[in-house]
Amino acid sequence: QIGVTQLQDMFGAIAEAMRREKERLCELDGVIGDADHGIAMEIGFSAAATTVAALDPAASDPTTVFNSAAKSFLSAVGASSGPLYATAFMRAGSSVKGKPILSDDDMVDAFEAMANGIKDRGKADPGDKTMIDAWVPATAAARSARLAGKPLGQCLSAALEAAVEGAEATKDMIAAKGRSSRLGERVIGHMDPGAASAVVLIEAILRTFD
Ligand code: ADP
Ligand code: MG
Ligand code: MG
Repeated sequence: QIGVTQLQDMFGAIAEAMRREKERLCELDGVIGDADHGIAMEIGFSAAATTVAALDPAASDPTTVFNSAAKSFLSAVGASSGPLYATAFMRAGSSVKGKPILSDDDMVDAFEAMANGIKDRGKADPGDKTMIDAWVPATAAARSARLAGKPLGQCLSAALEAAVEGAEATKDMIAAKGRSSRLGERVIGHMDPGAASAVVLIEAILRTFD
């Protein structure tokens, strides 16, 4: 049973993880992009976590949490990941509208809504060497674990495992979206930074609910 307090903790955990991984994500982006991805994630999730932490649990619901996170992420982040994650959180918020407490099914729905939001906003397909290559397999794994009756923690573990594999697979891809798409074959052998940060994010969610 997940309410506002648990979602506040979740955003806090994501912000902390991004702070820890900031340098590594900037280094990955430095190879195939403009070296700011760790900064974008750190600034965005710090802003989101701070805004969300200030909400009164008695006067808010999960939708309010996701929508507040979306708004502060969008205004804090100038990089292309800003609107992608803002859309993800708006969609997560809509997917749980009217529910004060979230079940495991609701959480998997929200998780899937995030991936669909990123896809709709960025128009990337699997294989384009973006965060989608981590998000799509992760949400598919969470969904099938949930359909098999697994509790949320196990759904998120399956998601993390799939995200790690998906991020690893971006090393072999040529980028079709975003800044690194201008580099052609030079990006082969390097992991996409957005896929790497998706792994960090999913791991922080797993740690919150495991
Ligand atoms: P910027 O490229 O503007 O500096 P970031 O460095 O924060 O933005 O984010 C780069 C990441 O964003 C990429 O590694 C990729 O995963 C993701 N990305 C870029 N464009 C798209 C897109 N259209 N759809 C999905 N993800 C994208
Ligand atoms: Mg960048
Ligand atoms: Mg940038």
